[in-house]
Amino acid sequence: MALTGIQIYKLLPQTNCKECEFPTCLAFAMKLAAKQVELAKCPYVSEESAALLAEASAPPVRPITIKSNGHEVKGGNEVVLFRHNKKFFSPPGLFIRVYDDQPAAEIQAKVKPVDEYVVDYVGMDLSLGGIAVQGRGGDFGAAVKAVREATSLPLILIGSPEVLKSGLENLAGDETPLLCSATAENWEAMADLAKEHNVPLALEADNIDAMVDLAEKLEGKGLKDLVLAPKQRSLIGTLTANTTIRRMALKENFRPLGFPIINFPGDCGDPVKEVTLAMQAIGKYSSFIVLDNFDPANAYALLVLRANIYTDPQEPIQVTPGIYEINDPGPEDPFLVTTNFSITYFSVANEVESMGMPAWLLVTDSEGMSVLTAWAAGKFDAEIIAKDAKRFNADEKVTRKRIVLPGHTAVLSGELEEELPDWEVKVGPKEAVDLPAYMKEVL
Ligand code: SF4
Repeated sequence: MALTGIQIYKLLPQTNCKECEFPTCLAFAMKLAAKQVELAKCPYVSEESAALLAEASAPPVRPITIKSNGHEVKGGNEVVLFRHNKKFFSPPGLFIRVYDDQPAAEIQAKVKPVDEYVVDYVGMDLSLGGIAVQGRGGDFGAAVKAVREATSLPLILIGSPEVLKSGLENLAGDETPLLCSATAENWEAMADLAKEHNVPLALEADNIDAMVDLAEKLEGKGLKDLVLAPKQRSLIGTLTANTTIRRMALKENFRPLGFPIINFPGDCGDPVKEVTLAMQAIGKYSSFIVLDNFDPANAYALLVLRANIYTDPQEPIQVTPGIYEINDPGPEDPFLVTTNFSITYFSVANEVESMGMPAWLLVTDSEGMSVLTAWAAGKFDAEIIAKDAKRFNADEKVTRKRIVLPGHTAVLSGELEEELPDWEVKVGPKEAVDLPAYMKEVL
């Protein structure tokens, strides 16, 4: 059972020493009850109290990490059902599946593009989480070896305890794959294997009650790092199972369901439906997503969706304010102005860059807001633009001083002329996509 702030307070030293960076022990207790701080922040908790508080301070969804060779995918550690209530912390990993009855060359031909896949999205490098290897009557050990020759990405190993054993023998001792899946029939052997190799274990059951029963049995065997694998494969079935699990963990603090979730969109056998299922899994609580098909375009869509859902809604993705050079500009080239919201910045920069046109780009500090939002909030006006132009020494870059305002803020042109009397102020198009044509025709 979760403890209330007052119950936690009674277990703290109550000296208000402030070393935890809270003004009082009560304030710290309240934050602890809301799971917004770590108990370790208070160095004076007695051992006895710490044991009692461990339950209250444990994250409601246990963090689990799959890792290998410097790569890792973290699941769990979430504290809210809806991102706008705080944020989501652990972006789900996408795992592409191969089977042990495929020839090694075929496995490697599928794995290599996954290994090499990195795309840029508003300044972030997005890539896939790893590879899932599934037993299907072939040589599992050889399949794992073939995968390892082609990539060092983290692994999910799927099969019976006997099959998984041969896979684990082909891995370096310092990596942590996820084993799938313990069932009502094999859970004891799976638990022994996971314990022996100190790796997390997924458990699969027909319904939530059976899942709780199995999770409790595995915990009784001393396993702490569990992942829940709902057996449902349809859109509605997965949505219902994932949501029930996460609601029980976060709203009821129900420990047997307080683990990350793995889903298998690849099992549907339809590449289009697979993407739809994966999108739902990204939006609704999955941590590890197993796909059968790797298509760069679909992967990009899924990773961008993931990036947007797992961005802190209160902290827009920003670029650093300053002057950016596009296509090696010279003293005769114009200055474009925009805000430091990443998507705005990259929209402008990409349009101009892809047309090969040289320009200077002045990115003002708008606290990560887009142009219109920043203008409405008073974070993008003539004074701010002029201040940043001076702060970043824009006038030292050019001999022909031309500055282009975003079309949506044409209203600022008069004031900007007053603020920057040496500059020719122009009004650009409203949309970034129209910039190249504007630059060709007007500048
Ligand atoms: S560090 Fe511990 S004892 Fe000191 S104020 Fe914080 S909770 Fe209280």
